[in-house]
Amino acid sequence: MSDGEQTIRSLDEQTVQRIAAGEVVERPASVVKELVENSLDANASRISVRIDGSGTERIAIEDDGIGMSEEDVQLAVEEHTTSKIRDIDDLESGVATLGFRGEALYTIGAVSRLTIRTKPRGGEAGTELRLAGGKAEEIKPAGRPAGTTVEVTDLFFNTPAREKYLKTDSTEFSHVNRVVTQYALANPNVAFSLDHDGREIFSTTGQGDLQSAILSVYGREVATAMIAVGNERSEGDEDGDGLTVSGYVSHPETTRSTREYVATYVNGRYVRSSVVREAVLAAYGNQLAPDRYPFAVLFLSVPGDSVDVNVHPRKMEVRFGDEASVRETVRDSIANALLDDGLIRSSAPRG
Ligand code: ADP
Ligand code: MG
Repeated sequence: MSDGEQTIRSLDEQTVQRIAAGEVVERPASVVKELVENSLDANASRISVRIDGSGTERIAIEDDGIGMSEEDVQLAVEEHTTSKIRDIDDLESGVATLGFRGEALYTIGAVSRLTIRTKPRGGEAGTELRLAGGKAEEIKPAGRPAGTTVEVTDLFFNTPAREKYLKTDSTEFSHVNRVVTQYALANPNVAFSLDHDGREIFSTTGQGDLQSAILSVYGREVATAMIAVGNERSEGDEDGDGLTVSGYVSHPETTRSTREYVATYVNGRYVRSSVVREAVLAAYGNQLAPDRYPFAVLFLSVPGDSVDVNVHPRKMEVRFGDEASVRETVRDSIANALLDDGLIRSSAPRG
């Protein structure tokens, strides 16, 4: 800007839209997260995720959820449209769905070519809606079983600065893989599949048990090294803090060099928590080699008023009311499980 002559102007709608989109949709994995959450919110029992290249080429997510009518799908891509809350009272009384802001489809649509093919459960006709850069290009009837397929191609085609910031295809895909894995482990009753460039990366059965979901996503070597964790006491929970921990952690010799395999869910939601991660590491004590991390899939259930998962919805951060008790409960539950299995010895044989 040159000296002394600034001009304040109102940005046109398209510019505003693209700036806002950049904040919600950072990379292909953020698109996948939003679309998978929509499929889960739509009660899907099967969710298939197909990625080409880094995901900017193509992301296609197909579900067998409740689907949308022709009218609804047109509304769904508008700004701030949602079927999940009505007003601030709904928000304050607690939201059961993963989404509620009504901005994902709108913002994804603004920075890509978006095609939605959908049919509601129970009779009504199917619809295909096509948008490019946020503008509706076509709407027509389309036959398909009940459910929804959202296809995103040419992501960031109209925001070159955003596209430049992306890493290699394999890095971007590894972010996508992590997102789909997080949801597949949290929802063992949903059959997930992930394909990359036409090759299946994993698929879960949707039969409902966490152990088989772990086998599907991490493979046999890891699955056989997992042991069950749980502090679920008889009803009443004498401690009175209402905190329960369940899930699986790996044998101390089955580790990786990054912490990303320590997955924590609080009241069903994936979160990042350094409190939990440190408690996990503390349970292993000196049984872990330096800079090695175990696999862990931990579900914490805490009373709603003692946790704030909305610190920032996109960062998935969490704040516990009583960090010390969370730390202690997680550490003790894992240490007990490792002890019971005789695994707090590095020489334990592998299954
Ligand atoms: P939000 O999820 O916050 O409501 P979105 O922009 O992600 O906002 O979606 C807008 C609306 O579109 C949702 O509230 C829902 O009614 C509908 N919708 C989106 N994805 C699906 C889907 N896979 N199946 C059925 N309905 C969907
Ligand atoms: Mg959503």
